[in-house]
Amino acid sequence: MPSRSLHLIALLAATAFLPRVVQAAGPDWPAVEDHAVQLLQRYVRIRSINPPADTRETAALLKAEFATGGLVAQLFDAGSNHINLMVRLPGRDRTKKPLILLNHMDVVPVDPKQWKQDPFGAQIEDGYLWGRGSLDMKSTAIIQLTALMLLKQQGIVPARDIVFLANCDEESDGRNGAGWMIAHHWAELDPEYVLDEGGVGSEDLYRAGRKVFGISVGDKQVVWLKLRAQGIAAHGSQPIPDNANDILLAAIEKARQFPATGKPDPVIAEMRANIGVFANNKFMNAVQQNTMSLTTLRSGVGDPPKPNVIPSIAEATLDCRLLPGQNAEEFVSDIKARINDRRVSVDLLSEPKDPGASRTDTPLFAAIKKAILAQNPDAVVTPIIVPYGTDAQKFRAKGVVSYGLMPFIADAATVATMHSDSERVPVDQFHKALHIYWDVLRSEF
Ligand SMILES: [Zn+2]
Repeated sequence: MPSRSLHLIALLAATAFLPRVVQAAGPDWPAVEDHAVQLLQRYVRIRSINPPADTRETAALLKAEFATGGLVAQLFDAGSNHINLMVRLPGRDRTKKPLILLNHMDVVPVDPKQWKQDPFGAQIEDGYLWGRGSLDMKSTAIIQLTALMLLKQQGIVPARDIVFLANCDEESDGRNGAGWMIAHHWAELDPEYVLDEGGVGSEDLYRAGRKVFGISVGDKQVVWLKLRAQGIAAHGSQPIPDNANDILLAAIEKARQFPATGKPDPVIAEMRANIGVFANNKFMNAVQQNTMSLTTLRSGVGDPPKPNVIPSIAEATLDCRLLPGQNAEEFVSDIKARINDRRVSVDLLSEPKDPGASRTDTPLFAAIKKAILAQNPDAVVTPIIVPYGTDAQKFRAKGVVSYGLMPFIADAATVATMHSDSERVPVDQFHKALHIYWDVLRSEF
């Protein structure tokens, strides 16, 4: 313990000599905003596509940037060029567990033909910065980095340690990223809070004509099912009842009759109380109920498949997402019971986790809300569930209070460009988001 005490004394001595004048002056915001936009452009131009999620170049860029502010980034090699990066800014109270600023460096692939802009050009046009990862989630990572570096530059010692953690493969299953860091470096992480991607601000996404900022407190559970129908191969000229395609189609049809509403969810109830009538769009429809998407169909004999051969095997996958608090095992049993056909096997491909939603009665949640309202006084701020999965879920599974926030206002059409074509982030909102994050990190939490 003596070394710890000495360390604390050294820390107190160091903070005592910090020039208060610098703090009062505050950041040079126009310069900070310009620099952050340029850094985001350089970051988006790196093609950290998953697969293969090679994050050597993205990690090098972030490490070099942190170094300019005197912050040392540690790199963790999970193998196969899967690099994770961690930076720690010590806080006033080293006995408190840290806040982790969580982000991922990888992005999903693109179909360049569908883009008007170069998907890795990061060009600024019509007030947007365009490119894969501009929303999901390189912008939030640069905002987190900037806010952290500003604290250091301004000599502000945060309430507790803040750890910036950039992972490599969130866009697959995080096995080499957040999952790997949790498995191999938990002692260095062990956070009180995680702040990750998730909720966003919007004037039409949640409710038409109402400015709402969603802070995500829970993800839906991922239940991937593989259906495999076994029939008898035959000549297409003579129809048979044991056609694997017909068996599969009937099974899918029965599976799709699942009840979308399960147990009432307290977060959804709170959203209704805060927002009122929900907008009718794919995001809000998915947020408030259990969902199922038919994502793949595979069948036929030969490549390309022969039109005159009835195959003996036909397969499909169903991407199901359940609200927190729903029992995934019961859900899968229910689907099997609905299909109830010995010729069809149903296999679970994912490992659904249900850590439940994070509580909101924390100083951090209050600080985030206050920071959003300072920039957007007319906004409604509410906890939400997000329809997709994030790395935050892995930390919730460890009992960590985890929130998701991309603190920009974006319309539903812009939000829908994540994982789609013409992904973009509004530049003026990116500027505002820097202020929001800065306010959060220098608050008491
Ligand atoms: Zn993401």
